[in-house]
Amino acid sequence: MSSTNAAQPHSFFTDVMAYFDKASAFVQAPPGVLDQVKYCNSIYSMRFPVRVGESLEVVEAYRVEHSHHRLPTKGGIRYAMSVNQDEVMALAALMTYKCAIVDVPFGGAKGGIKIDPRKYTVEQLERITRRYTAELIKKNFIGPGTDVPAPDYGTGEREMSWIMDTYTTFFPNQTDGIACVTGKPITQGGISGRREATGLGVYFGVREACSFADDMQSLGLTTGLVGKTVVIQGLGNVGFHAAKYFHEGGCKIIALAEYEGAIHNVKGLDYLAVVEHRKATGSILNFPGATNMARNTDALELECDILIPAALENQIHQGNAARINAKIIGEAANGPVTAEAEAILNAKGIMVLPDIYLNAGGVTVSYFEWLKNLSRVRFGRLGKRFDENLNKQIIAAVEDLTGRTLDDTQKRLIGRGADELDFVYSGLEETMIEAYRQLRDARKENPKIPDYRTAAFVVAIRKIARSYESLGVFP
Ligand code: GLU
Repeated sequence: MSSTNAAQPHSFFTDVMAYFDKASAFVQAPPGVLDQVKYCNSIYSMRFPVRVGESLEVVEAYRVEHSHHRLPTKGGIRYAMSVNQDEVMALAALMTYKCAIVDVPFGGAKGGIKIDPRKYTVEQLERITRRYTAELIKKNFIGPGTDVPAPDYGTGEREMSWIMDTYTTFFPNQTDGIACVTGKPITQGGISGRREATGLGVYFGVREACSFADDMQSLGLTTGLVGKTVVIQGLGNVGFHAAKYFHEGGCKIIALAEYEGAIHNVKGLDYLAVVEHRKATGSILNFPGATNMARNTDALELECDILIPAALENQIHQGNAARINAKIIGEAANGPVTAEAEAILNAKGIMVLPDIYLNAGGVTVSYFEWLKNLSRVRFGRLGKRFDENLNKQIIAAVEDLTGRTLDDTQKRLIGRGADELDFVYSGLEETMIEAYRQLRDARKENPKIPDYRTAAFVVAIRKIARSYESLGVFP
């Protein structure tokens, strides 16, 4: 996604620090502790050569570990031409706060390689990924208890399996080796539900926000998701799954945006048919029945109930914030709203559900995958059959006592034991609901906390600061 705010260089990390400072006013902790939390602990900037065709290319890449208050550090690796040190630092910092909000016991990190992955063959991408992993190994920036990467913009399961394979080749006898990276294919130690986790977490988070009558009333909305209009920018893994769950939850998706532009239909778009159309024609534009919009960012300005930016940072900025016509913005991407834009959105009364809460579903399920890898057993393996047998006996006893027989659907629903996917979905749902309540409670306890982003930073900083209690600097 391109940004329309290219005139001024924009420091994403400065924005994150500004959010941190704003929230710090609501946190009681010794100032030294706050500084320790705020800045990046380790920054690894690297250049390495990769053979591409007949020539040698020097690739620019980064890994930043923002906070070591919990180990390992955790965060994705992105492949994009927009990658730079400032961006990776900002994203690493967001990971720290994100993990704290959803009680995932990791510090934050992020990696990035400055390439356009579409310009390379699969073999070249594999070479770049393996070389990057080797660089991380050399400097101790990867390992199951050190720093655990995951997918991000421009990477996916394939890249994660290359990373795991490279790491385990270097450390063949490490029993926990496959826990050095998450977001792997299921056949390579991945976990069911990781692929859709971020999009599903976005859905759970927005659904929870829409369940409070007084909050919805002040936005001029009714509770629940049914019938709400949704605009989604980005149809990658996160945007696609968000579209799926909002659609299944009864929302009407009225616009979708991708690189090449946006399409709009007030009557609603069939997101699956749009994906098929894009596969067939190479573009979402000219989708039957929809209106084309020249720039993907045009879709952001449409009137809707819920706007989901699910692409890159800096999409809603000083230049277009005043024209945003959504009631709720759900930040599925990292940093899609700049700090300047947020002030404008707040003044307009728009509810912004911040990235560090709303897209934390990905890292939450990464945590489950890491636990699965360390324990070396699939969730549900030990208990599923036991539960099923027990439930059968309970059903039989109930039927016996009441003289009534349950129908097959009821028996199937009550009788089954939970498998891995059930545990992942319920763990994710519980995590997103509980975290939202913490943010909402923080605002209820202190009405001066002006918005959900500040509340999210407050909750995160409080939790992280407590982890420095052992230093004996707390009053
Ligand atoms: N890249 C994702 C994020 O920004 C996932 C990180 C992870 O699973 O470690 O949250």
